[in-house]
Amino acid sequence: MPHDEFDVVVVGAGAAGLAAARRLGANGLSHIVLEARDRPGGRAWTVRLANGEAADLGCGWLHSAETNPLAGVAESQALTVDKSPPPWGRAAAQVGPHRERAGAFMEAIGRFRERVETRPADAPDVACSALLAPDEPLNPLIDAVSTYYSGAELEKVSAVDLQAYEDSGVNWRVREGLGAAVAGLARGAAIRYSCPVRAIDRRGARLSIETDGGTLTAAAAIVTLPSDVIAASPDLFRPALPEKTEAASRLPLGLADKLYMELLAPGDFPVDSRAFGDMGRRATGAYQFRPLGRPLVEGYFGGELAQSLERGGLAGAFDFALGELVGLFGGDFRRAVRPLAFHGWRSDPFAMGAYSYARPGFAGSRLTLAAAVDDRLFFAGEACSPLSYSTAHGAYLTGRAAAEAAMRALRRGAR
Ligand SMILES: Cc1cc2nc3c(=O)[nH]c(=O)nc-3n(C[C@H](O)[C@H](O)[C@H](O)COP(=O)(O)OP(=O)(O)OC[C@H]3O[C@@H](n4cnc5c(N)ncnc54)[C@H](O)[C@@H]3O)c2cc1C
Repeated sequence: MPHDEFDVVVVGAGAAGLAAARRLGANGLSHIVLEARDRPGGRAWTVRLANGEAADLGCGWLHSAETNPLAGVAESQALTVDKSPPPWGRAAAQVGPHRERAGAFMEAIGRFRERVETRPADAPDVACSALLAPDEPLNPLIDAVSTYYSGAELEKVSAVDLQAYEDSGVNWRVREGLGAAVAGLARGAAIRYSCPVRAIDRRGARLSIETDGGTLTAAAAIVTLPSDVIAASPDLFRPALPEKTEAASRLPLGLADKLYMELLAPGDFPVDSRAFGDMGRRATGAYQFRPLGRPLVEGYFGGELAQSLERGGLAGAFDFALGELVGLFGGDFRRAVRPLAFHGWRSDPFAMGAYSYARPGFAGSRLTLAAAVDDRLFFAGEACSPLSYSTAHGAYLTGRAAAEAAMRALRRGAR
């Protein structure tokens, strides 16, 4: 087969694309992954900080860990899965002046989740903000936490979609980084980096995939682009696929950004402890001290707050965090930390955000986005997962499923 003709082209080398490529490779199909960045992993990205520590700027937690396939992926690469529990599930992990309110907050958010989970299956969709108890004083913080896990404020998020999300409540980490584990899937894979796909033309007998480096042809393609990238690229498909562009725009990427700071006197904080910047505001950060015992503070910012912090980059995010931390721990805290790293996922042209949520009324768009076109154009990526959207393992599973579907279609075509 000439160099640029393949059975399957995979667009994007994140968790979904790499999972698809492995499946195709294991079954002997000729394939290539086309990736716009110069690295694999996409929104899974472990970096080495200036103080030598590994840190995940994208996904860090193996959610629903006991059934999460990425735990096995990490272990198969001799990486270490750490099973110590996350601070958000332990009131005792809270530090700072608000720590005595941590128990009350966990109860309040538990009642909110209960209202989400016990909605009748046939109840019309509403924005999650409609499920807040009107007299709950901790509502702003429940909203802040929504911006961490949905990437968006409650009034933007579909209750039906949130109810569908499956979470066993078990969360593990990978000591060397979850991003490193996902990127490890790229070892030995056929990937062209720095190769953004500009168009996928399905008017001929074979698909034509146009890139900056030339045109490839394939019998089938698996598209794993983030939903906002699809929504912003109506010319990606020829002929156009307005139902895909529309579904993607109904599953926008929320925003979550992380800031890493070096903690210069780590002994002052317990391992894996946490504080909210301000328990009375929704535009506030969550700060995890000494994650995995490391001399770090990981700041987590969501939604509109994260959006505004991206304008100031590392210095601006550090300024904001320091303001909140000094408010909690006093002026001496200025000398306790220094900035190390920040990544703005909204400003990242190949992500355009952090993870998808569904707008109220549009939870069903996940299936529309995931549906195959003409039995030769397949879709994967976290936004295509109805039950594990927004996660790395959800992306991985959709990638594997898309590869299986593409292989079945090719077998049908061969017959
Ligand atoms: C701050 C943050 C924290 C998170 N925390 C967690 C967590 O704790 N646990 C968890 O499970 N998940 C978490 N997530 C979500 C998780 O990272 C994503 O859901 C998952 O990595 C998405 O994988 P994907 O393959 O669907 O998409 P991506 O990883 O975005 O892969 C798509 C790929 O397509 C590439 N691409 C874009 N445009 C083009 C183009 N034109 N041509 C070719 N390639 C292109 C991109 O560069 C990218 O590599 C987090 C994400 C962020 C940002």
